[in-house]
Amino acid sequence: MAKFSVSISYPPLNSDKGIAFLSQNRQFQWTHTDNVIYPVIPASAATLLKSKGFKVYWDDAIAQRLSYQQWFKRLVSRRPNLIVIETKTPVIQQHWQIIKDIKKKLPQSHTVLMGDHVTALPHESLKNCPVNYILKGGDYDLLLLSLATQLSTNQNPPKIIASTPDHHLDQIPIIDHQLTCWQDYANRNSNFKYHPGAYIMSGRDCWWGKCTFCSWTTLFPHDSYRRFSVKHAIAEVENLINLGVKEIFDDSGTLPVGDWLTDFCHQIIDKGLNKKCHFGCNMRFDALTQENYQLMAKAGFRLILFGFESANPKTLKKINKNIDPAKIRNELGWAKKVGLEPHITVMIGYPWENLADAQKTLHFARNLFKQNLVSSLQATRIIPYPGTPLFSYCQKNNLLLTQNWADYDMSRPVIKSPISPQKQQQLIKNLFKGVLTPKFLLNQIISIHNFSDLKHLAGYSIKFLQKLKDF
Ligand code: SF4
Repeated sequence: MAKFSVSISYPPLNSDKGIAFLSQNRQFQWTHTDNVIYPVIPASAATLLKSKGFKVYWDDAIAQRLSYQQWFKRLVSRRPNLIVIETKTPVIQQHWQIIKDIKKKLPQSHTVLMGDHVTALPHESLKNCPVNYILKGGDYDLLLLSLATQLSTNQNPPKIIASTPDHHLDQIPIIDHQLTCWQDYANRNSNFKYHPGAYIMSGRDCWWGKCTFCSWTTLFPHDSYRRFSVKHAIAEVENLINLGVKEIFDDSGTLPVGDWLTDFCHQIIDKGLNKKCHFGCNMRFDALTQENYQLMAKAGFRLILFGFESANPKTLKKINKNIDPAKIRNELGWAKKVGLEPHITVMIGYPWENLADAQKTLHFARNLFKQNLVSSLQATRIIPYPGTPLFSYCQKNNLLLTQNWADYDMSRPVIKSPISPQKQQQLIKNLFKGVLTPKFLLNQIISIHNFSDLKHLAGYSIKFLQKLKDF
């Protein structure tokens, strides 16, 4: 008898705004940068399913640059028993149509939608398309194993399958990178200076997990936080280094800190892995000491991404960010001093912020650049994703401009704001342009020590200009 087969699929999506920057992104964006992100938890799902005897197709047609027709033809020829699609708010309507196409051609195949949008609104998708199952929560690997096991043994699973996070992550095997075509992603991501690069996630997802705008708190609420053991994380790193990977980005919402981080860094150093690979991660301000930064630099960390979001204490309080702008210069100074490359993100368009508030944030961010305290930045527009406290707040206060989900792609405001859409656009563009000061450019040139630095700066500059086009 043929093995029960599962296709983990990212169908090509249509937009004149670029390619879909979809998986693992806390915020969805169409992009002209050609960046792609390796979807870590879906890759873990593929690995777990294969280890339990299922046939798995890794079907990321976005990363593989297939047309819709090419992808669809290949899917039909494979006839998988289960077709799984990760979705986000701005593309949910496109995914409903794709599910309709699939069910017409492959009526026997079961279809599944997963992601933060369907976790928040599972019944909406069940109503709007013939999808068979919805996964609620972010443990796609364990949820899919449960679903595939039930279907392959002729059981009758419920239509909505929810995460039960009372398990240890270490039961999940080390990711099979060959199965999940890791090389398709290894050179197309500006988080990597050294190539090939790869992604891991040591935690699910963020030990803070309380920012009111964060879409991944829908997938992993604060009280469901778990992390892999250091032993497991080191095994994942060693496996990637054996494949030839030169830079690893840990995309947990925030990297585990405290004893976990100290132990991880010491093991990296003791095993000499810091001589073979560089590391990057997401981090929160006020979580690390100066000694932590020193140790991380010694262990080979390079890029650290911080969500700064706003320079206004009122906003930071409202979004539950729990950071103090007055302290961050000091902290960025510690990171820079030991050679780390901090990147910050800021957002504008908060419904309670006026022009002066937004300009304060942008001015603050620009000054960090002038002082060479950050190496790069990202400016975006706040989007209230369904399932987040911010979405509920906007709904309750009649602040939503639209509930046409396709508009939730950051290309326009969807929250009422005292700042006009044109002005918001201009502010974001100005922030991007404002960092290209002669002093900043000089600092970048001074920081070139080798060919990788030069290549990264050239690549980064191109992506920077492409990014401007996204706005
Ligand atoms: S710190 Fe980052 S990952 Fe964690 S809840 Fe806030 S926005 Fe989400």
